[in-house]
Amino acid sequence: MNTKYIFITGGVASSLGKGIIASSLAKLLQARGLRVTIQKFDPYINIDPGTLNPYEHGECYVTEDGAETDLDLGHYERFLGVYTSKANNVTTGKIYHTVITKEREGAYLGKTVQIVPHITDEIKRRMLLLGRTGEYDVILTEIGGTIGDMESQPFVEAVRQLQWELPEEDTMSIHLTLIPYLSAAKELKTKPTQHSVQALQQGGVWPDVIVCRTEHPLSAELRRKIALFCNVRPGHVIQSIDAWSIYQVPLNMHEEHLDELAVRKLQIDNFATPDLSRWKEFLKRIKNPTHEVDIVLVGKYVELQDAYKSILEAFVHAGAANDCRVHVHTLQSENVYADNVAELLKGADGILVAPGFGERGLEGKVCAVRYAREKGIPFLGICLGMQMCVVEFARNVLGWADAASTEVNPQSGHPVICLMEDQKATTIKGGTMRLGAYSCQLEAGSLAAQLYGTTEISERHRHRYEFNSDYLEEFEKNGLKASGRNPETGLVEVVELPGHPFFIGSQFHPEYKSTPERPHPLFTGLVKAALEHRG
Ligand code: GLN
Repeated sequence: MNTKYIFITGGVASSLGKGIIASSLAKLLQARGLRVTIQKFDPYINIDPGTLNPYEHGECYVTEDGAETDLDLGHYERFLGVYTSKANNVTTGKIYHTVITKEREGAYLGKTVQIVPHITDEIKRRMLLLGRTGEYDVILTEIGGTIGDMESQPFVEAVRQLQWELPEEDTMSIHLTLIPYLSAAKELKTKPTQHSVQALQQGGVWPDVIVCRTEHPLSAELRRKIALFCNVRPGHVIQSIDAWSIYQVPLNMHEEHLDELAVRKLQIDNFATPDLSRWKEFLKRIKNPTHEVDIVLVGKYVELQDAYKSILEAFVHAGAANDCRVHVHTLQSENVYADNVAELLKGADGILVAPGFGERGLEGKVCAVRYAREKGIPFLGICLGMQMCVVEFARNVLGWADAASTEVNPQSGHPVICLMEDQKATTIKGGTMRLGAYSCQLEAGSLAAQLYGTTEISERHRHRYEFNSDYLEEFEKNGLKASGRNPETGLVEVVELPGHPFFIGSQFHPEYKSTPERPHPLFTGLVKAALEHRG
């Protein structure tokens, strides 16, 4: 069988959940025994979202191979349980960078370099790249942005060309739109969808299936109307009704026969029903859990849900593993001070201090760590959160009032967190942090080793600063243990406080690897400890 390509575009509005629809269809195809991956093509000019403020674009998701990517790749991994890579996230910036570099090398032999065919050729090359590895039966490609955007046109044009160049049964196009409900008229409206499909068809791409996001069920009549005006079969207009959980969407899409439409269109000789038993098991556990806990997430991007996407999802997975609903309350670290921290964190069964960059909200994070440490509240600090554990301990236990990270105070007399050696010569910001998977050796018998059930682990990273090992002895003598180190460099990856019910700081980001089917041990451990604390 040739590799099959499914293209997913969106119209009418952004944030309709193309990533979730792509992930859900991918999950269904995977559950039918197919080898599936998903890639995202983003029309913005940044090379990657690594340089974007989370307020702009939500969390930056990091892959095993150290790519800083769109947060949708997190959904892909969580739904499929399969790692993505650098090749799975392409931007306009990357495309132009390649083309312009080739032009400077003289590779175009004197030709005028143009959007068509040179930019579109490079887009197509990248769209087919993962398919050429032979590792996948089906590649889903999500086109970021909304149909009609000026910047997404070359991507739509590339899809148009591929629909002609590849055998008809090897490509499929899905268009996701919104059917708004006008409460005054008590009516669902199809006109925006009609316009969106028209715009898509003007670009030469015809959708095989239209998925309609809606708050109310679509009647057969409405589906027929959309089909008529949008030039698809009535059975190919399907509804994606607001779901109680994103993890419910694969089941909703299966009920709407989306996976069946895909295997038929792509002539995949596979009409087996998808085996979703483990997925359903997970859903059952998140729907009606026996227990509940309150966790406070202390961070500086809390106004935007998407900024801590993977952390929030990891709590859903960890809750399921503990038969427990985790209520995550976010707390703006800028508003936390020594004199209000007790008030703000009262009632917390567990505390998580989030990753981050720069000075804003840092002192609030230190206050939250201190509260968790002194009051025995289960605690997890991630990346910057871990670094603040070290600063807090240095100031309040070791008595070094000026202890700091050199990220914010290069003059500190006690630079307990300092710039990594290999970062010192770096001036360029994009893609230059310590990124992706590195192995870590855990100390036998430590809390971390107990939670993981092993002493050899590998986790993903995104940082420039590290624990300053010059001070390690002093910390350990006084009770903050380095229970995880990089086996090659000795870099401190995990700190913990023996004697505290649950206190862990990790330089790496455990949240990136948590999935419904493989909840992360640090999160399940935190939730379990929080449950005990509540009890
Ligand atoms: N700003 C810190 C560093 O660069 C922490 C980064 C993070 O939390 N991802 O090391």
